[in-house]
Amino acid sequence: MHKKGLLAFFLLFALSRAGAQTDYTALCESMVREQLEARDITDTLVLRVMRSVPRHEFVLKDYRPWAYNDQALPIGEGQTISQPYIVAYMTQILGVQPGERVLEIGTGSGYQAAILSELGGEVYTIEIVETLGLEAKKRLNRLKYKNVNVRIGDGYNGWPEAAPFDAIMVTAGAEELPETLMEQLAEGGRMVIPIGPHGGVRQLTLITRSNGKFKSEKLMAVRFVPFIRQTDKPEKP
Ligand code: SAH
Repeated sequence: MHKKGLLAFFLLFALSRAGAQTDYTALCESMVREQLEARDITDTLVLRVMRSVPRHEFVLKDYRPWAYNDQALPIGEGQTISQPYIVAYMTQILGVQPGERVLEIGTGSGYQAAILSELGGEVYTIEIVETLGLEAKKRLNRLKYKNVNVRIGDGYNGWPEAAPFDAIMVTAGAEELPETLMEQLAEGGRMVIPIGPHGGVRQLTLITRSNGKFKSEKLMAVRFVPFIRQTDKPEKP
């Protein structure tokens, strides 16, 4: 009886483990088909990396079953990981080529950084909330994502030592275009950034630099957590 109970427990445990893994793969596949391919994500490389990066590893444990849902999810510290479609859309717009230097502002969970690294970019990512940045760094190391450099700080200032960047992705909503980031955009570079008032709807905006001139194009209305500045935070005693 005791042995049988143990055996049953072991079997159930093994089945639940195997089941959980199969489920995530299946959930990820449906996410790609129903939320990305069925909409306007056509870049085969972007679709490939959206299939390969395990999104459930980047959300809070309790939210794992919903990791592949068509929605943003909490990642702690009042911040969120963007909805899969928005991640794929912003990635497709940037069109990152292997070896390109990419700057991300707002590391959050590290999911978007992992996607950019899988595309072969040399990724530099900045997070203002220390605990999130440190966790993302650990997670990206554990999952063996290469070429991702994580820094804790105010992304408003960019990463001057690593500039210029071929692509810049801002994953927090800014009230206006940060000038320093424009300066750090390489000739022929692309930047995607949500711009608009805090608390309201923002416009996802594509900035391109060519022959020293900047062009700005509004892409779609989006909601994003706010881009915060170091000066917004109360001084530490
Ligand atoms: N790209 C992330 C999600 C971003 S949520 C992911 O894939 O999980 C937006 C993130 O931007 C939050 O973690 C927030 O703390 C961070 N952030 C806001 N203002 C910032 C700033 N000035 N510099 C750097 N990070 C900032």
